[in-house]
Amino acid sequence: HVPNVVAPLDASRLKIERATTLKPIPAPGSYSFGDIHTDHMLVCKYHPSTGWSAPEIKPYGPLAIDPSSNCLQYASNVFEGMKAVLNPEGKPCMFRPRDNMKRLLTSAKRMALPAFDPEALLTCISTLVTLESRWIPSLPDHRNSSLYIRPTMVGTKASIKVGASDEALLYAIVTPVGPYFPVQKIGGVSLLAVSEHVRSWPGGTGGFKLGLNYSPGFVPQQAAAALGYDQVLWLLDEDKKITEAGAMNFFAVAERDDGGITIVTPPTDGTILPGITRDATLVLLREHAKNPSANLLNVPFPPNVQIEERPLTVNELAAWAAKGQLLECFGTGTAVLVVAIDRIGDFDVSDDFEDTGSAVSEIKEKKRKMREITLKGGLVGLGPVG
Ligand code: PMP
Repeated sequence: HVPNVVAPLDASRLKIERATTLKPIPAPGSYSFGDIHTDHMLVCKYHPSTGWSAPEIKPYGPLAIDPSSNCLQYASNVFEGMKAVLNPEGKPCMFRPRDNMKRLLTSAKRMALPAFDPEALLTCISTLVTLESRWIPSLPDHRNSSLYIRPTMVGTKASIKVGASDEALLYAIVTPVGPYFPVQKIGGVSLLAVSEHVRSWPGGTGGFKLGLNYSPGFVPQQAAAALGYDQVLWLLDEDKKITEAGAMNFFAVAERDDGGITIVTPPTDGTILPGITRDATLVLLREHAKNPSANLLNVPFPPNVQIEERPLTVNELAAWAAKGQLLECFGTGTAVLVVAIDRIGDFDVSDDFEDTGSAVSEIKEKKRKMREITLKGGLVGLGPVG
């Protein structure tokens, strides 16, 4: 019996083929999120008999995969979203990148894709970011600009038989990005609470970063946009528990009867993506709440703040709003940073439209039966500041 020894992902085998001509860098503000392709990408392949190939950084370009590839038929696609910025010394740095590597591995395992050494992948990605560092927006007045990094892993087994892919392609691309939402949205984005389409459910895959979690949201997103809302507020169950907002984690800030403030976010119970910005936000909020007069990061913080990770319903938001106690809501995510929410539209359950494929005019008719939850705003003063 010969043990099947396969090669691990090995950053020391990284090969670099530089692009012979470099692309011009477009002016910040002249492109929208995700459109720009830089000069290089990172590529590595997994085969069950040989393991991971030597990782390669090479000129950005099309990937060749078999038309029967598992990922094209059965959506075995997992990905990450992370960011690099230049520090004051002009050196590229990434925000909590090990958390992204860990989450990518968790997603790959959920998709029965091969495992990899997260530290080795991070080394390869760091090399790519360093090589592409001229693409990192560096203007001091572009605080919301950064280099967005998209590690991706797809199942490439060339068979249309339904089953796990034991072959994979792991790659990473980068793209310079400005603010996710247009500058007109600096005051806040609007959300439409949707319950007839569900993003995730107990036992489902909402807690992983799988491509298949996103595409079913495109139709509800279009319907929300047709009604004048920026993003969907995803709900679960009859009691309309809030899970997430678009591709952001959701936080609500309410004034309590005793005059204190409660900040609530839904728990990572498998139905929401465990956001890295969410976690960083909770860490900061808890530090502020422990010592409000310390003015951490020079941000004034009110006394008597409680931070809660617990189920939160739209009806709870509406009840707070009716009493004038709903101060703010905000979304967090790598792409959006921290973004204020200015209003939330919510259909009465009985008035939910049945199919978002229905005509926009029909949806508009239903809009009349919708309530709007408006936010008092102002007290904590969070905005899209990052
Ligand atoms: N929820 C969803 C569905 C997301 O796609 C994202 C973006 N990755 C987030 C939340 C925020 O997660 P993070 O802060 O790690 O970017």
